Parts: sequence; C-alpha cells; structure tokens
Amino acid sequence: MSTVYNFSAGPGVLPAPVIKQIQKELTSFHGSGMSILEISHRSTLFENVIDNAKQDLKDLMQVPDNYQILFFQGGGTGQFAAAPMNLASKHHRLALLDSGHWASKAHDEAIKLGYQVDVLDSTKSEHYHELPHLSLTFNQKNDDYLHVTINNTIEGTTYHQINNPTHLPLVGDMSSNFLAERYSVKDFGMIFAGAQKNLGPAGVTIVIVRDDLLKKVPKIPSILDYSLFAKKNSLYNTPPVFSIYAAGLVLKWLKKQGGVDVMESHNRKQSKMMYDFLDQSKLFRNDVKPSDRSLTNTIFTTGDQKLDLQVAKEATQHGLMSIKGHRSVGGLRASFYNAMPTAGVQSLIDFLHDFEKKH
Ligand code: PMP
Repeated sequence: MSTVYNFSAGPGVLPAPVIKQIQKELTSFHGSGMSILEISHRSTLFENVIDNAKQDLKDLMQVPDNYQILFFQGGGTGQFAAAPMNLASKHHRLALLDSGHWASKAHDEAIKLGYQVDVLDSTKSEHYHELPHLSLTFNQKNDDYLHVTINNTIEGTTYHQINNPTHLPLVGDMSSNFLAERYSVKDFGMIFAGAQKNLGPAGVTIVIVRDDLLKKVPKIPSILDYSLFAKKNSLYNTPPVFSIYAAGLVLKWLKKQGGVDVMESHNRKQSKMMYDFLDQSKLFRNDVKPSDRSLTNTIFTTGDQKLDLQVAKEATQHGLMSIKGHRSVGGLRASFYNAMPTAGVQSLIDFLHDFEKKH
C-alpha cells in the first residue's frame, strides 16, 4: 500500500512508533499476561500509567505545582458544561470571546444550564477570518471567568499570544493545539483539551486547573466535579484506561522529539510551507488574517464549492485523506498535528500544485 497521510481535524494522526508500540504490547502489558484493555484501573500497573502520564505532561508544559492535572471523559463538549458548573458558582456569569463555532457551542451550553454569558467581542461579521480581542476599555461585569478558544479548529485561527487585561481567570479551550505551541500555564486559570487531536485517541479529556479555583460546589454531577477528581487522582470512577495509556505513550514520544518548543518550530515550518503555497496560488486561497493563522488547522478554498469537493475527492485517491472542510463552513482544511511528517505536507502541496496546473 502506498503512503497515506491523514489530515483529519480529529481524531487525527498519531505518531507511527506509538501505534507500533500499542500493537506490540497489546496482548501482554508490561509482561503481565493481560492486555491494557482488560487490566483493572485500581491495579498498580495502571496507577503507574496515570502517574507517569501526569508527570510527563507536567514536564512538557512546565505545569506549576499549584495546578492539578485531571483526566475526564466527555470531550471538549463535556467541558463546556463542566467549566461553568465548577468555576462560575459565585456569580453564575462568564465572559467569552466569540471567535467561531466552538466558542459559540460553549456559549450555548452555558446559557442552557442557566448561566449568563457576556460576549465581549465577536468577529462573526468578519466570518471569523480574524480573532476578536479585548479592548482596554472593557467594562468588567461580575463574571467568574473568561472563556477563550485558543485554537479555532474550523476557522483556522489561533491566539498565539495570551493577552488578558481583565483579571478574570482565563479558561482556555486548547482542544486543537494542545502541546503544539508553547503557552505559559500560569496565564490560565484552567486549560482543557480533548485528546483526539494532538494527544491520543478519543476518550480522554485533559483539564489543568489552578488550585485556588477548586471549590466544593453542591449539586454538580460527580463525573464533572473538578475538586472530586483532584482528590481521587482522576480515579473516582472507571477512567478511559486505554486512552490514558495511549496518551501516555504519545507524551513519551513527544519528550523524545525534544518537547513542545521543538514541536512548535516543526509546526511553524510546516504551516509556513502551506501558507506560502496558498498565498502564491492563483486557484487556492486562505482568507485568514496572517497574524491569526493557525499552525495546526489550515483552511483554504478555490471559492467554488463543487471544485473544492473535487479537490478533496482526488486528494483521497492520492492517499491524502480528510481535507474536506467542516460541514458548517465547507471549503477545504488540512490539519497538521504534531505527528504529521513534513513529507506529508509536501505531498499535499505537490498535489494541490498539480491540480492547479490541470485547472
Ligand atoms: N473545542 C474545540 C476547539 C474543538 O475543536 C472541538 C472538537 N473538534 C471541541 C471543542 C469539541 O470537542 P469534543 O468533540 O471532544 O467534544
């Protein structure tokens, strides 16, 4: 079979050596004679898995000691409910920057649960081709925190730098650029990310939360309760054992590559190759404001819906998978997560170049 490159926005490409290691130890985990799929989450074997994953994540992100690293189920969507329930117990009110689809999902979920949401800025009228920002004249209300989607997976934009003049704890949705770019954890009150893009298979969601924000909140479902999970080392109930194990292997792989800074420069190089191609192309274009362009999700289009579909179809025939844009916006999208080799990006650019010559 010829080489296949997976540009899916998630679940996304995982490092090939990690998939091989999973295959190798699937029947007997660490010589136990039992598969990781069947060991108890209360066994020492698994306690080591979860503790190592936490330590490796702490090292890679330089997580300060006054933050907890927690493992949940329920994905990023689960955190759209969990964040207000845990962090907005005082004023029942949060602030949010409307930067696209996932920010608006977070907004709607909070409203549904009875919280008030102050949308401080929105770039909806610019089709989210640039990011909303807080003005210095921002009039602070009684909000409990500020929700920001750090990387907008569908619109292809990223806050590369964090600027929070509000004094509100910042809640960062890093689902699609977790460990792809260096951020300082101390700029955040809480960070969350579903694993299935940069970190591992679907099923586990990471929450990194500052100790002083952990409060005992009455009437919160146990499965979403940050302080309960912190107390129980994320083992309050049966966790997604396999997903945590696989994420742990990706974290080890990441350390071997040189860590987050090395990944960031790898991702910068690859996304620049793609944006440089798009900017000179006479057929394809990317409409995102250059300073806001994402390193992990590049959106592009010919401007013709039918032609975009043809591009995606022909790409598949060349082993370049999943470049169709999200159903809500159409067009095309290529996701370059940490495990994407440069050869994959080059193959995609070569294919688009040939397609352009033919059309
Ligand atoms: N936030 C962002 C930025 C996302 O990209 C996604 C999923 N693509 C979500 C939240 C929702 O995550 P999940 O599918 O894990 O619920």
